[in-house]
Amino acid sequence: MLNFKRFTLLFFIFLLGFNLYFISGCPNDAGFLCSHKLLIYAVLIFLYFTVSLTMAFSPCSGFHHKVVCKGNQQKNWISLTFDDGPEPEFTSGILEILKRQEVNATFFLTGTKIEQHPELVKAIDLDGHFVGNHTFSHSVWFDFFSIRRMVRELRQTNDLIRLHTGKTPRYFRPPYGVINPMLSRALDVTGLLTVCWNQRSFDTVSGDSSRIMKKLIRNLKPGSIILLHERTPFVRDHLEALIRNITEQGFEIKPLPDLIQHPAYE
Ligand SMILES: [Zn+2]
Repeated sequence: MLNFKRFTLLFFIFLLGFNLYFISGCPNDAGFLCSHKLLIYAVLIFLYFTVSLTMAFSPCSGFHHKVVCKGNQQKNWISLTFDDGPEPEFTSGILEILKRQEVNATFFLTGTKIEQHPELVKAIDLDGHFVGNHTFSHSVWFDFFSIRRMVRELRQTNDLIRLHTGKTPRYFRPPYGVINPMLSRALDVTGLLTVCWNQRSFDTVSGDSSRIMKKLIRNLKPGSIILLHERTPFVRDHLEALIRNITEQGFEIKPLPDLIQHPAYE
């Protein structure tokens, strides 16, 4: 499979090939390649950065880093995941619904919010749900941070989760679903397992709850990992109906570690 390392190697082989050709072939050749050296270099570099950037937004391609995006497809199991919490206005309500429906979920939490609402992290854990790392700051600039700063954020968040639950998470979810080479390196250093999704609800961008519901139910597949956000009106008002609809379709909502067959904690 073509990943970033192989792609970079390929890029340099092309670059070297053109260099050799220009050095050895061009003195006697006034053809297109020789008369457009700069253009060719510019196109190669442009393609390299465009492909690398585009693939950063496609984490499940595994281009920049190995990512888990779906689980066991042998059974009609799916998992629910909630990002960006804990949220003082929403977490308790979500936990109540999950308890009523006897459903287990995984919460990808950010360090800044954990510091503000440790009692909610404890409540999530006490109810038997799983907690993953979603960076400390969830900054919009996170993907521009240095590797060292990324590592610091990931460790800081894991330390906070351990402080309030006694458990050290192994799961990590990238903010905005972006993985670049720096983050890939930071993940190698920390040893976290990146878990994304294969069903994005778009509940933060779409206000049309019935459309979100229809799309999620229509696209259910064995092994699906559904991405939801704690703070959205869809989750607040329709989580119970979503759970009912999922089970009516013959799917069982399972804990994420069972679905992906990988432990949530060290
Ligand atoms: Zn997020």
